Parts: sequence; structure tokens; C-alpha cells
Amino acid sequence: MMTMTKKNKVNEIIAYLDEIFPDVGCELNYQKDYELVIAVMLSAQTTDISVNHVTAKLFKEYPTLEALANAKLEDVEDIIHSIGLYKNKAKNVIGIAQAVLTDFHGQIPMDKDELQKLPGVGNKTAGVIRAEIFKIPDLPVDTHILRIAKRFQLVNQNADPYETEMALKKMVDESHWIKLHHQLIHFGRYLCTARKPACASCKLAHLCNVI
Ligand code: SF4
Repeated sequence: MMTMTKKNKVNEIIAYLDEIFPDVGCELNYQKDYELVIAVMLSAQTTDISVNHVTAKLFKEYPTLEALANAKLEDVEDIIHSIGLYKNKAKNVIGIAQAVLTDFHGQIPMDKDELQKLPGVGNKTAGVIRAEIFKIPDLPVDTHILRIAKRFQLVNQNADPYETEMALKKMVDESHWIKLHHQLIHFGRYLCTARKPACASCKLAHLCNVI
């Protein structure tokens, strides 16, 4: 019997995800590019639903970059206190607004290294922002994608998010990166969840090491 390569496995996963999630995208609400940057930063270790809940108020009360840059820390903390790590994130909200204004003339930079100069923006966040705003192919790995890649044994069980991103990028054609990123997050959020994955109805069970 022929052994299935990781590339074959990924192709089967992509075909299935295209079937069940043909049209998925970013679930964070935003209207302006800098609002997306802030929303993605806020979403670390927090659900998109809770981020959307706090940003609705935050962006209404502070409708411009200037307003956010001049916001009082305690007021921002107050608005976002229902999400995890809110104290640090409140500092980052104001810090991002100030840095975009002073260092980048009010525009979100396209360059990944430049983006990572913004407070609270690391490799994953920068990848998400570039893909969403500039449609630059990327496959940033969050906690869902990391878990799924390991369940399918696409990477070693001790691989970190960055190693997983690099490995997946080698297996998947660049044209699929952005869509696959969203599809895997959907799969991890709603079906292949951390604690109670829906294995009974999963058509990829034969590729997976969980059952
Ligand atoms: S069989 Fe279960 S754990 Fe494996 S991919 Fe499907 S839902 Fe996830």
C-alpha cells in the first residue's frame, strides 16, 4: 500500500475544508485598517466574539487614530476589561495608535518587520494583518492551527507555531494560504475543538491521530 505523504494529506484536508467551509474569512469586526490591527492584537487568548463586543464600544467612543492616541489608559481599560490581559492590551491600544501616527504617518505598514514594531504585534499578528488588509499570502499559526497540524501529524508534536507555519507553507501552494488559515481556524473553533472534537461526524478521522 502506498504511504500517504504530508502533501497528499494536506490536499485531502483542503478539499474537505473547501466542501464544509467554502466561504470563510476574518470574524473580527472593523472598518478602518488600524481598527483591524487593534482588534487582532486584542484577540490574543480571547475569542473574536468578545473582541467584537469591546471594540464596538471602543471604536465608537474613539472614532479616530488621534482620539485613541490621546485616550486615557484607565478609560480604555474600563472599556476592554472583560477580555483577558486587558491591562497590557489597553496600553497596546494607545501605543499602536501613537506609533501609527508618529512613526508611520497614519498608515499601517505593509512590511512584516515594520508591523512588528507596533506594540503587541508579533509574527502571527503581523501575518494576519498583512493577509487581511493587503491580501499578502500568509499562513499564520494560532492555537487552533497548531493543535490541528499536530492531530494530523503534519508537524512534530513539540513543534512551535513558527515551525508549524514554515512546515505548512512548504506543503501548501501559496495561493491557498490565506483561505486555509481561515478554514483551519473555523475547523478548530467549531468542529475539531480542543476538548470535545466532533470526531463522530469528521470525514478526516482516517488522517488523524486522535481516534
Ligand atoms: S477526527 Fe476528531 S480530532 Fe481528528 S480531525 Fe476530526 S474532529 Fe479533529
